[in-house]
Order: sequence, then C-alpha cells, then structure tokens
Amino acid sequence: MRQVVMTEPGQVVVEDRPDPVVEQPTDAVIRLAATCVCGSDLWPYRGVQQVDHQVMGHEYVGVVEAVGPQVRTVKPGDFVVGSFWASDNTCEICRAGYQSHCVHRTVMGSIGTQSERARIPLADGTLVATPGMPDAGLVPSLLAASDVLGTGWFAADAAQAGPGKTVAVVGDGAVGLLAVLAARQMGAERIIAFSRHPGRQRLAREFGATDIVEERGEEGAEKVKEMTGGLGAHSVVEAVGTQQAMMQAIHATRPGGHVGFVGVSHDVSIPGDLLFGTGIHLHGGPAPVRRYLPELIRLIWEREIDPGRVFDLTLPLEQAAEGYRAMDERRAVKVLLTP
Ligand SMILES: [Zn+2]
Repeated sequence: MRQVVMTEPGQVVVEDRPDPVVEQPTDAVIRLAATCVCGSDLWPYRGVQQVDHQVMGHEYVGVVEAVGPQVRTVKPGDFVVGSFWASDNTCEICRAGYQSHCVHRTVMGSIGTQSERARIPLADGTLVATPGMPDAGLVPSLLAASDVLGTGWFAADAAQAGPGKTVAVVGDGAVGLLAVLAARQMGAERIIAFSRHPGRQRLAREFGATDIVEERGEEGAEKVKEMTGGLGAHSVVEAVGTQQAMMQAIHATRPGGHVGFVGVSHDVSIPGDLLFGTGIHLHGGPAPVRRYLPELIRLIWEREIDPGRVFDLTLPLEQAAEGYRAMDERRAVKVLLTP
C-alpha cells in the first residue's frame, strides 16, 4: 500500500509499505475512505519536533476489511470512525470519559493513517460504526469527528460552554473553528473568535461566532474584557499551544471561569502566582474524542452540523507533500487526502 512518510523536517514523501494485517485478536484493519493533515503534523514539519522517517497521520474514516477473533462491535463492511488514540473503552479511566488516557492506549500517529489501509488496535473500544454507508458528502464531516471536531468539542466542554455563557476562542485553525461550532451547539450566548484571517473569520461566523477580535496576546485579552463589562469571558478555548496563546486565554477569562486547552503545548509555562491570583479553572490535554463520537456521528448523520466545511483543499494521497505545504503556508485551513 501507499503511505505518507516524513523523512526529515519539511520533507514529505509517499512510499510503498507492506499492507497491515491483524496482529492482535482485538485488531481491525480498515481501508481508508479519507484522511487528512493535522495542525499538529506541522510541528515536526517545521522542525520544532524531532522527526526521522516517521509514518504520518492519525485521523481516519473507512471501511473495515478484517477483524481479529475477539472483535465484537464492528465487522467487515462497516463504515467506521475512530479517535486518534486507540483505547479499550473499558478500563477505569475510559469509563470515566478519558479514553485519550486509557491504560492500554496506543497513539494512532505511531501507526500512521495517511495511508491506504491501517491497523486499528483495540477495535471494539476505538471504532464506532456509522448507521450505514455514508453519502460522499458526509465523509469530510465524519473525518472531522475523528480529531478536529472531537477536540474542539472537548475544548468547549472543558471550558464549560453553555447557555448564557460568553465563550472566547484563541486559535483560528480547524480545532478553534470547530470549538466555535461546538460552543454554538452547546447553547453559548456570545462567541468571540480571535482571528486576523478574512476567510477564517467568515467560517467562524458561519459556525456561530457573534464577534471577531483581531488583536492578539494581552491586547486581545483586554479587548475581551472591554466587551464583557471588564470581567472577561466565562469560557475560553486555547487551541494553539504557544505561551502567548495560553497567556491570552488565561487573561481573557473572568475569575471563576474555565479555560479548555487543547493546543499541543510547546514550551508553555504558567507562573504559579498568576494561576493563584486569577482563580480560574484549567482543564485540557489530548481530547478524549471517543467519549463524544456516538453523539457527534448522530449530529452529522442527521445533518444538524456540517464540520466538514473546515476542509478547504482536497488532494490525492500521492500529493500529500503539497497538502503539507498548503497548511504550512496557511493557504489551507485543513487538507483532506483521498487514498
Ligand atoms: Zn481504557
């Protein structure tokens, strides 16, 4: 099969690799219907994170081709969506809703789903079958559920977005934009999106943002305070992962408010005295997407939400390198790859 490999920072190639097989009795093998490039794939691409001939990709939807003898909940022919962490969904941590910290977890990026086929460990716990074979038009939205929608959803949930709340979202990538959609779906009254990019501002408004703030950092946080009677937002999503973004999120939050942080943290440090002084709640990390998948699939299937609109460029898997370039140069919000 063909699979995307990052040989070194900035170098993405598509190589012939052996077809995956069922290795464990709990595995499934799927044929990818669609996969994509993640904002987090840009960290190694830009050399911020080490990379050496690494298989890439952790988002996936597709059709089950084979299952191990212990797999009960999915079968060959099912169309499935899974999270970027494989999880058993039965351990104490999973049952509490934190499948991304499952005691048996495997990160799908180590297997690589920017490929024609993929082995999915712990298939019963990881995969959720859709009610039937989706129309082609639903595939991008189902793919979004695999990570960016699920992650944006967790961020809005962790920030306690809900009726009567003012929610601010730091980060106008796919996750931030879908956190806007999630906050709208959760009934937030006012949704402030930080963005300087006209196309992303437009999408944020379509997903439910009521206000756009172009200022960044301290200035951006001040602007949110001005807009909320000097208090700050009830709920703030941090979907970038830099020091500036985290500080912006904390300073934009009112005392007693909540920050949901899902940007993959790179050299972020939070001074203890700041944390002590602000009186806010902080919750985040790798999103337990599996917790939300059944509900997200239902909302997509019933066409109540259309998160697939974050994909603004579709390329064949063979042109993955161009997909990475487009995202690196911010010419595309998110790139869908068709195997
Ligand atoms: Zn578990």
